Amino acid sequence: MAMKELVIISGKGGTGCGLCEEVCRFGAIQNEAGVFSVDPLSCEGCGVCVEFCPAKAIDFPEQECGEWYSSTTRFGPMVHARMHTGAENSGKLVSLVKQEARKIAEKQNDEYLLVDGPPGIGCPVIASITGADAVLVVTEPTLSGEHDLNRVLQLAKHFGLPSMICINKWDINPEMSARIEAKAEKSGAVPIGRIPYDQAVTAAQIHAQTIIEESDGPAAQETKKIWEAICSTI
Ligand code: SF4
Ligand code: SF4
Repeated sequence: MAMKELVIISGKGGTGCGLCEEVCRFGAIQNEAGVFSVDPLSCEGCGVCVEFCPAKAIDFPEQECGEWYSSTTRFGPMVHARMHTGAENSGKLVSLVKQEARKIAEKQNDEYLLVDGPPGIGCPVIASITGADAVLVVTEPTLSGEHDLNRVLQLAKHFGLPSMICINKWDINPEMSARIEAKAEKSGAVPIGRIPYDQAVTAAQIHAQTIIEESDGPAAQETKKIWEAICSTI
């Protein structure tokens, strides 16, 4: 099935009021001596500038950027999308995939709808957590992991969602793992697990298996504990 995605392409023909620059939270409106235009590399496609522009000068033509699929897996249905080469993920795409997944889950009376959220904190992440009951943030003990985690936790807090964190490969930097957990707790998130470095994870990927199917080692054991903790939390 073809999926349509909106892409902003121009900010011409307006009054130069600057409102678009003011309302864009992503700094994607360029102002060159009073001439406003959209930087396509920074634009998240949220459409806020279109909504607010009093002169209706910002155009959003439809552009096909990928296709979404509904597949059957050995663990149940999975809704996913494939982007065309060079196309970017967006909040609209994530919302579409979630909407279709929800329809299937409700029809089957499924207990859980799991959404694999994209990285970052832009529109795709906001769309992925919208309407969720809880957020599990999986991070790694690195500076960039710590930085991104803080931003996602702030986002979840902003939407009033309970957050849990788990640290993947925590034992490659135990001090950083402890620091991340302490910061997460300060933000109101609950640390629910630490997955150790385990070569069985690579073996599972090679064999196209889940870690639970591949091994009964430390990563598999911890993953099971994390799932139990999630089930008892939500
Ligand atoms: S809000 Fe519209 S009219 Fe105002 S500067 Fe931006 S594009 Fe131009
Ligand atoms: S669509 Fe959103 S991100 Fe893009 S320029 Fe407009 S307000 Fe900024």
